[in-house]
Amino acid sequence: MTKHYDLIAIGAGSGGLSAAERAALYGKKAAVIEVGRIGGTCVNVGCVPKKVMWNAAGIAGALRDATDYGFDVLVNDFDWEQLINSRERYIQNINDWYGGYLKDSGIDLIPGYGRFVDAHTLEVDGQRYSADHIVVSPGGAPLIPAIPGAEYGIDSNGFFALREQPKRVAVVGGGYIAVELAGLLNALGSEVDLLLRRQHFLGHFDAMLRETLMEEMVNHGVNILPNINVEKVVKGDDDRLTLHCSGGHTLAGFDTLIWAIGRAPQTANLNLGAAGVACDPHGYIPTDEYQNTNVPGIYAVGDVTGRVQLTPVAIAAARRLADRLFGGQPERKLDYENIPTVVFSHPPIGTVGLSEEEARAQYGAESVKVYQTRFTPMYHAFTRHGSKTAMKLVCVGVQEKVVGVHIIGNGADEMLQGFAVAVKMGATKRDFDNTVALHPTSAEELVTMR
Ligand code: NDP
Repeated sequence: MTKHYDLIAIGAGSGGLSAAERAALYGKKAAVIEVGRIGGTCVNVGCVPKKVMWNAAGIAGALRDATDYGFDVLVNDFDWEQLINSRERYIQNINDWYGGYLKDSGIDLIPGYGRFVDAHTLEVDGQRYSADHIVVSPGGAPLIPAIPGAEYGIDSNGFFALREQPKRVAVVGGGYIAVELAGLLNALGSEVDLLLRRQHFLGHFDAMLRETLMEEMVNHGVNILPNINVEKVVKGDDDRLTLHCSGGHTLAGFDTLIWAIGRAPQTANLNLGAAGVACDPHGYIPTDEYQNTNVPGIYAVGDVTGRVQLTPVAIAAARRLADRLFGGQPERKLDYENIPTVVFSHPPIGTVGLSEEEARAQYGAESVKVYQTRFTPMYHAFTRHGSKTAMKLVCVGVQEKVVGVHIIGNGADEMLQGFAVAVKMGATKRDFDNTVALHPTSAEELVTMR
């Protein structure tokens, strides 16, 4: 017998859980289908475990700086396995909490892999489920290049499964994951090479951010190799990896190789064709601004749409979708403009709005005014290991509307959220100037720039 729901979400990650949760709040009968652990990428092999590792890297930095602040500190050891065990216990608690929460909310968790039978019916392990509304939210999976020996490398999932700290590691890629993993591994004491296929990493970010980060990473010991492509990986008798690269370069002696070259949507096995749902050539599901696919009653949220691939975006889109479907708010949708984002690099980046380059292209160079600053934060005033902070405000028009806020430096991750509110509200440079500074902080520079 086919069990019927008001809404079924495929994937119990950030998007699917949020859609089901909001539907249940409106008194609707909802279910989530999940083949893996509840919480999806973010909770299990993404944001959450990454932030734990980043916190550990921050503690390594604080221990290093402690002597400069007068502490007589002797660090005997860093126990990677203990950290991983604590991290995994924490994640298991989140998984368990979600299980209870779904039950308490009256949401059914259907374990297994869901495939479309038709536009309103899904099959999981031979059992059929139908719904008035189906939300496709299966997320993405890391890509591995099609080169000989690629299988000797691991991806970000493999990184989170490491039971031992890599001693000498190559990270390939220039996106969020590559710079985050390279930075935290370096801070925790691994020897890290970061291989970029272009001159720069974080290609879509404001140039000030990526240039400052590159300088900081080099200063802190990451060996950054630009303009290099790995063509073959060979494993030696000693289990060490050798990377044969473009231009005849050879890099040897790695115990770990991490591919961080992007992610692909997990749509290939959903049997979308049975429901008539269209995909683009990369497997992403195009949606309109209301998360509608080309088939009425079927929606897509999160990474599978190929839009901004961030957890809070998936959550926000899914909640608004449920508000629209069940909450009597027919115009409710996510505004994809001015979405703030943080890179948990060393130091972190917080950014919202247009880069200087984008603003010039969009508004014309003569309309754009940029304010920027670069300084040593007070924390590092007398530490031997320093780290710079840099900030930029991108303003346009005679009103100097702030269309971009870009920060790199200690605390940038926590600093940005409030400034993102200001940008979203259309604040001008004058509004920033009219705000009294918090002293002594790094953030005060954002309201005192000349
Ligand atoms: P990204 O899409 O951010 O970056 C992929 C990178 O890999 C690019 O720099 C790209 O280079 C490079 N690349 C692609 N193919 C190759 C190749 N064959 N060889 C070498 N380099 C290659 O992907 P990520 O996997 O880092 O992250 C996926 C998404 O997850 C991000 O877009 C982000 O939205 C999200 N994320 C967010 C985080 C956060 O919010 N802090 C943290 C981690 C992930 P090029 O620039 O030259 O094309």
